[in-house]
Amino acid sequence: MISKKLEEAINSQIDKEFYSSNLYLSMAVWADTNGLNGTAKWLYVQADEERLHMLKFIQFLNDRGGKAEVPAIKKPPHNFKDIKSLFKLVLDHEIYISESINDIVSLTIQEKDHTTNNWLQFFVNEQIQEEKSAQEIIDKLKLIGDANLYMFDRDILSMRNE
Ligand code: MG
Repeated sequence: MISKKLEEAINSQIDKEFYSSNLYLSMAVWADTNGLNGTAKWLYVQADEERLHMLKFIQFLNDRGGKAEVPAIKKPPHNFKDIKSLFKLVLDHEIYISESINDIVSLTIQEKDHTTNNWLQFFVNEQIQEEKSAQEIIDKLKLIGDANLYMFDRDILSMRNE
């Protein structure tokens, strides 16, 4: 049985994962309408993945005697300066998500809830990958410069499932 405090924290995480999904969806649309089809594809897949994260939190909360709340989502930005600032935003957002998950892990320790602590380790590990792939893309973009943006957009297609 989950505590009220953890139920609240996980409901707030459901909101964040849902927002992540919509943020990446909005970024995908921007990429799609700016000739960056490979980047759009990467972002559409990422948006789906974030929705799955949200569903995992919903299911866990319901299974542990809590009740998930489907949140109203604030509108994400829909215009981005350029592809570099877009991926910097992805990285900053994922760092924010990592911190948020760490805070819930700290709460499970306070509440002596080892079940939730253990379950959350999937997301602790997942965030290593999320931060790493955003950082890798930023590094690539630095290397290639604007002239080779077309090549980058082809290259990112092979970067899923690493
Ligand atoms: Mg996520």
